[in-house]
Amino acid sequence: MHPRLAADLAQLPELLEITRRHATAFLDGLDDAPVVPRTRPPHAEPLSDHGVGLRAALGEFTERWEPGLSAAAGPRYLGFVTGGVTPAALAGDWLTAAVDQNATSSLDAAGQHLERETIGWLRDLFGLSDSHEGAFVSGATMSNTVGLAIAREWLGERLGVSPAEDGVGALGAVRVLSGSPHSSVAKGLSMLGLGRAALETVPTLPGREAIDPEALERALREADGPRIVVANAGTVNTVDFDDLRAVAALRERYDFWLHVDAAFGAFAGLSPDHAHLVDGLDLADSLCVDLHKWLNVPYDSAVQFTRRRDLQVRVFQNAAAYLGPLGDTPDFVHLTPENSRRLRALAAWFTLRAYGRDGHREIVERCVACAHTVGQAVEDLDGLRLLAPVRLNVVCFTLAEDPTPERLSALADALAGEVFLTPTVYTGLPALRAAFSNWRTTDKDTRLIVKALEEAVRSLR
Ligand SMILES: *Cc1c(COP(=O)(O)O)cnc(C)c1O
Repeated sequence: MHPRLAADLAQLPELLEITRRHATAFLDGLDDAPVVPRTRPPHAEPLSDHGVGLRAALGEFTERWEPGLSAAAGPRYLGFVTGGVTPAALAGDWLTAAVDQNATSSLDAAGQHLERETIGWLRDLFGLSDSHEGAFVSGATMSNTVGLAIAREWLGERLGVSPAEDGVGALGAVRVLSGSPHSSVAKGLSMLGLGRAALETVPTLPGREAIDPEALERALREADGPRIVVANAGTVNTVDFDDLRAVAALRERYDFWLHVDAAFGAFAGLSPDHAHLVDGLDLADSLCVDLHKWLNVPYDSAVQFTRRRDLQVRVFQNAAAYLGPLGDTPDFVHLTPENSRRLRALAAWFTLRAYGRDGHREIVERCVACAHTVGQAVEDLDGLRLLAPVRLNVVCFTLAEDPTPERLSALADALAGEVFLTPTVYTGLPALRAAFSNWRTTDKDTRLIVKALEEAVRSLR
């Protein structure tokens, strides 16, 4: 054994203890650290020949890299849609690395069964019926892509061909209809050979990001042949929701596959006051939910559900003599883009077991309450303008006067030490979004955020 490896192995408990203390100190500092430090990244160094051992590597990481990392796990990183990591999810993720299972094949031990138990809990959490089967993937982009891949195979089934066997050429031009699709849908279509141009945006309701069901019906009438509809449950700008029941009802008259992107919107179902927003979620043929956002497990984690596991197996089967048969309960190696994969379910398993439905409902409801507090403050503040009602957990706003991209970027910069927001364009106007999905965010943070907004607006005058 290499001497550095042998030395680290001999001191493993102590070295892990040092690492744990280090991680704890980082987490303890999250509340007060600059949310996104503006330090310059260090110069890249060449690969070391002899290595330095874990203790020195940790010292070097602490000195060179850590000061430049953001407090993304903390309570006031409100860019994109970014969750944090609950204590139990962190423990689960650490253990995922420690046990290092490849949860892929039934020839191996119980890892796959833990994943199936967790999928069952998630199905329950989001109010889905048993006809939805699921698998863990690395994020919502991959979950949308897997859903669209199953949709692609369904289109083939309608035409009597198999794109998985014969390629997408057998399908001809495909039309994918959506109101306000997330950018990852176009990326997925590109990866799947259906092409970004297949995506056709359908008009939304006036002043909304939710699809106009009548416009969708018109588009379906005009497009002949089997089609895919991507419904959106939680758009990124204003967290708007398509009327899922109205969209699904169109299947009675038009033939299409219904994929629902509920990356973070699915969590509305945890709050009795907001569950109506995802009414009809179970009607999806395939469904995407991100877990590294509002479930507050570490990156990279999402789940995909579908009613047509048979088609999923046709796309992702990885037949090889040494992997074992497909059987009635196919191994995950036959269900997802990856072959080898970590026991990704374990962090979700831990947080769901530790805090249950109620604990996760409390996180969702607290985030929504924080968004309302900040939304109200934006309305009340001279100089800012709310661009959409706060429907769930995002506040989308701009400057009341002269909202140029430069001035909004100056506003975001003035806030950056205290709170991190990301830019967008909504109804043609440059805007900022504050997205609440971190379990650590409380009233204390909304007070700091409101104060920071007041000061930043004043600094622009
Ligand atoms: C975040 C998000 C995605 C993409 O998720 P990743 O985890 O970044 O791959 C897709 N759809 C919606 C609605 C999202 O919010």
